[in-house]
Amino acid sequence: MKKIYIAGHRGLVGSATAKALSNLGSYELITRSHEELDLSDRAATREFLISQRPDYVVMCAAKVGGILANSRFPVDFLHKNLEIQLSIFEAAHASGVERMIFLGSSCIYPRSCPQPIREDYLLTGSLEATNRPYALAKIAGVEACWSFNRQYQTRYLALMPTNLFGPGDNYHPDNCHVLPALIRRFHQAKVNGDSSVIVWGSGRPRREFMYSLDIGDAIAFLLGLPDSEFDALTAPDTAPLINVGVGKDVTILELAQLVKAVVGYEGDLVFDTTKPDGTPRKLLDVTRLHTLGWKAKTAFGAGLQATYQDFLRHHNC
Ligand code: GDP
Repeated sequence: MKKIYIAGHRGLVGSATAKALSNLGSYELITRSHEELDLSDRAATREFLISQRPDYVVMCAAKVGGILANSRFPVDFLHKNLEIQLSIFEAAHASGVERMIFLGSSCIYPRSCPQPIREDYLLTGSLEATNRPYALAKIAGVEACWSFNRQYQTRYLALMPTNLFGPGDNYHPDNCHVLPALIRRFHQAKVNGDSSVIVWGSGRPRREFMYSLDIGDAIAFLLGLPDSEFDALTAPDTAPLINVGVGKDVTILELAQLVKAVVGYEGDLVFDTTKPDGTPRKLLDVTRLHTLGWKAKTAFGAGLQATYQDFLRHHNC
């Protein structure tokens, strides 16, 4: 039975990955809370992985946040992510991990690249300013996967998921991403009987949303590939980079209308154009993953309903 360490198992991607892998019943999962293991402590992380000797590592731990959090705390997003990535990559290599999956984000791609975005558009243009520090840390992670594969013949693969949402998301009023922010705001407005809800920006940017349990499923699929196929994805002469998305996007206005309907709110939408729009569009090209034989399964509406029910269970405010 393969032993897998999931770094960041309490987050949106990590918890979905733990669920997908434990459902399979064919892996031994290892997890540590932040209190038990501080991933920015390089010596402790190295010691932990050397003593545990996992076969595979899934690196989901990251400092993440929405457009405003990224603008307010640029140093935190750059440093924290670089710090924990350095720790994990060094420790994984020192402990002889067979396969690693590193999670990035679709914001690594240039702001104005052609749509849908193919993996080979990486580093072909300038980044969106609102999340450049986070994006640069994640690009360093992609480069780390490739550099380790070139220098040490490791099998490290970077996945770039589109915007994710699902159970256990962060609902912080200022710092979270758009979808949880809208769930919370529409819900509160419904409870309070407010006549309108504020949506940031112009409503025109387009975003692609994927249900978090689908990314867990994609990770389980990739870790289940036979050696020959996984080795081909991580061959030293290949950029070890795969997009994960659903292949469709919506405007923020359309998203707001969908969330409003799921929550059952009946008031108006008001757009606050003093807030940033961010990148105009980031729809991923998912041909590479489809060719390997994986497609996202959850319909957007069903994912949204399940996420709202989870919100009601845990954050009913
Ligand atoms: P991004 O995908 O990296 O830009 O991150 P976000 O999820 O934070 O924002 C996506 C888009 O939704 C941006 O155009 C925001 O201006 C817009 N948006 C609308 N309302 C909100 C909100 O309440 N919170 C956030 N975070 N974004 C919002």
